[in-house]
Amino acid sequence: MKIMAVNAGSSSLKFKLLDMPNEKVIVSGIVERIGIIDSVFSIKYSDKKFKEILDIPTHKVAVDMLLKKLVDLNIVNSLDEIEGIGHRVVHGGEKFSNSVIITKEVLDVIEEVSHLAPLHNPANLTGIYAFQEALPKIPAVAVFDTAFHQTMNPIAYMYSVPYEWYVKYGVRKYGFHGTSHKYVSQRAAIMLGKNIEDTKLIVCHIGNGASLCAVDGGKSVDTSMGFTPLAGIPMGTRSGDIDPAIVQFISEKENKTLDEVINELNKKSGYLGLSGFSSDSRDLWDAVSRGDEKSILAVKKQAKIIADYIGAYYLTLGSCDAICFTAGIGENASETRKLVANNIKALGTVLDPKKNMHQSEEMVISKKRSRIKLLMIPTNEEVMIARDTMRLI
Ligand code: ADP
Repeated sequence: MKIMAVNAGSSSLKFKLLDMPNEKVIVSGIVERIGIIDSVFSIKYSDKKFKEILDIPTHKVAVDMLLKKLVDLNIVNSLDEIEGIGHRVVHGGEKFSNSVIITKEVLDVIEEVSHLAPLHNPANLTGIYAFQEALPKIPAVAVFDTAFHQTMNPIAYMYSVPYEWYVKYGVRKYGFHGTSHKYVSQRAAIMLGKNIEDTKLIVCHIGNGASLCAVDGGKSVDTSMGFTPLAGIPMGTRSGDIDPAIVQFISEKENKTLDEVINELNKKSGYLGLSGFSSDSRDLWDAVSRGDEKSILAVKKQAKIIADYIGAYYLTLGSCDAICFTAGIGENASETRKLVANNIKALGTVLDPKKNMHQSEEMVISKKRSRIKLLMIPTNEEVMIARDTMRLI
């Protein structure tokens, strides 16, 4: 059975066609700069790569082009071979604790909670509508980033603010990256040779966006992102947690609206804010090797906050079998893993420096005597999307 996993952003569309249930990737690709001039259409299949630069005005045009390419390149004989489409949807609010078949009612709810993720949900919906129009008979499934965290209890997800903010507006912690945290915790249980019900894990998803999750028996019990993906640890361009009073203070000092200040916390902070020149971990580590003080501060600050959360989640869980590193930085940046490992030594963790030099491999990177295992686990959100889609259709 062929399943298409889709991740639509505001100007991009990532896709992977998987053969299920063997989870083999048939083709993957991305359309970038949709609606902007010089859109880029890249596709990878077998050992071939194909890239084209042209103007793609809408997601619908991108989808039509992608589907035509699948047939033209003989990747599929007919589009009927695609039996299901799974869409990543960032925010499901409190309504979805699992993936669902997309119906009119589901679309209405995704629209309804869009104000909670204004940068993401409308883009996800655009992708859904584009595929619906192109392949109206093929069932589609929504896989929510928030769903995995719906197992948190109110003590974890409520903020200490006037209760009616929650009742009236749904102000609470939702958490994101759930599909990745779930995938990584399932892999970790397999690596540990344990039933997932018997595991206590801390998952560090550190990419451009980053969040940590405490996973008890396969269930999320706390996570570092909050009401929005701005909270938690410092990221590529996002600040993570700050004193909320700073928002008003800067707004007054710089004569900026609240929107403008929040925009700076989302897009001009984190690595970019502290280093002053880049949001990309590779650029920062290059600068660190040249002794750039601000870049050193940026990477050390992030590693400190990651360690602080690990300490907190260790206490939440009561003990811990493994701390898992995943996503772009977690899988590749040995130096960041090393900083974090140094910061959490008090927990009895011992990093193996040689193993830590590996990248993007599923492996144990701690020494045998480490009290808590350190694991590197490449994430695979598309496989989770395809699995849920197959199960539901
Ligand atoms: P997102 O999906 O949130 O956009 P990713 O998980 O793709 O982000 O992670 C992107 C980050 O991973 C970037 O900061 C990038 O520099 C970093 N990264 C990717 N490869 C490497 C590498 N080899 N060494 C260090 N950092 C890396």
